[in-house]
Amino acid sequence: MPRVRPRLRLALILAGLAGLAFVAAAIPRLVPHRRSGVHAERTAAPREVSTRRVRAALAPDPELPLDLAETDVLVAMVCTFRRDQLEPYGQTRPTSPFLNLLARHGVLFEHAIVQSSWTRPSTGSLVTGRWAQVLQLDDPGDEAFHNRALAPDFVTIAEAMSAQGYRTIGASGNPNISSTFGFDQGFDAYHEPESLWRDSSGPAPTGAELNAQLLAELDATPSDQRVYLQGFYVDTHAPRRPATKALRKVQVEGDSTPRRVLAYDAALLTLDAHLAELYLEVKRRRPNLLFIVVGDHGEGLTWPAHHGKGHGNYLYTSSVDVPFLWFHPALPEPGRRIEGLSMGIDLAPTILELLGGTFPVPVDGSSQAKALLGESERSSHDLAFTQTYFRRSDKTAVLGQGYHLIRDRAAGGEQAMYDLDEALQTDDVSGNHPTVQGLLAEELDQWEQRVARSLQRQGGPVEGQPSKGMLEQLRTLGYIE
Ligand SMILES: [Zn+2]
Repeated sequence: MPRVRPRLRLALILAGLAGLAFVAAAIPRLVPHRRSGVHAERTAAPREVSTRRVRAALAPDPELPLDLAETDVLVAMVCTFRRDQLEPYGQTRPTSPFLNLLARHGVLFEHAIVQSSWTRPSTGSLVTGRWAQVLQLDDPGDEAFHNRALAPDFVTIAEAMSAQGYRTIGASGNPNISSTFGFDQGFDAYHEPESLWRDSSGPAPTGAELNAQLLAELDATPSDQRVYLQGFYVDTHAPRRPATKALRKVQVEGDSTPRRVLAYDAALLTLDAHLAELYLEVKRRRPNLLFIVVGDHGEGLTWPAHHGKGHGNYLYTSSVDVPFLWFHPALPEPGRRIEGLSMGIDLAPTILELLGGTFPVPVDGSSQAKALLGESERSSHDLAFTQTYFRRSDKTAVLGQGYHLIRDRAAGGEQAMYDLDEALQTDDVSGNHPTVQGLLAEELDQWEQRVARSLQRQGGPVEGQPSKGMLEQLRTLGYIE
């Protein structure tokens, strides 16, 4: 062993200790970073939202004009948004404090039926007001993935608002709702977070990322320029990696809710905080704001088992009856709940009509502006229709007369019927009420024929060109097997 002088030995020992101390100090920072990278942000606990601030931002003002010349519009679309997990729709555990306040100060639709149970066709219906199958965004068959894109001849809300002089700003966290599939149609600026493409096997972008992009674009817009903002949020979409803190918050002692449902609820609580921040920040910049929150579909959560795990294959209310909330300071009687049936296809015509305009082309939905303005207590539909045409699934459904009739076309037209008041749809009552079942089946026949005729009038489907990375992301999200 070489001889080391005492002074040098001391210096070496000190240097070694300093090195150890440095490494020890760095461990807490290095470990979570290495373990999770982008994941860390996704699992971050939601920031506390000040109830006082939210209440102040939801104050009524009957004098504020609700019109195309002066009102800014913010639409938050939430992917995988299960109605019965939200406090304003009866959830007793604390999953959604902001949305609960929003419903108490705004207007809530009791039943909003989306036109498909998976993202691309359902969102196509939301933004165009057209039946899902007419848009040809479905993914039938079990062979190669279909790259169906929104055809440019359909008119989107963004295009309609742009024609009214609005600057249109969009952001999407789901590759299905990207420019590749035509969903940037009508937008002056459309953001698809880089992490979506860069890290194809990683988690989808968080609400915080989408908020930052929407707000940056808003800040770059002159304040006298009206804006239409549309965000597509994926925080509640699987795979879900909720923060422990959020999980603890949604749990109630003695409650036997399964862990997978709690994981969904924790993700929902995180989303709720992102939506609160989005609303507060946009509202601060644009006080005359119309704010809408809507889901593109729900989630089965195997809760109960026959509803399936995810979405796309079934048409139970857990998948197709979504949260639908509106707020503007001038809407009368805050806290109103609109009974009856509304649909996803109503969103586009309702926005335009509520602001004193009309949607520029005929649509399949109808405006619910009368209900929002307190001129009607119910939404305008007696019947609501939905379908899924996804991989091996080919189902249609009609809701009305207090019942929900589901037809499995892939199984030779087999039918199941549920009482609309029986939320979890465990009791198939088909055969027990032959008159109403016959009537609903006839309505469903006629609707299927109407949609088939509309489809014939369309040109062929348009194909997008997804990159390898995007296909990988779609696989991660469960859209490709
Ligand atoms: Zn979705």
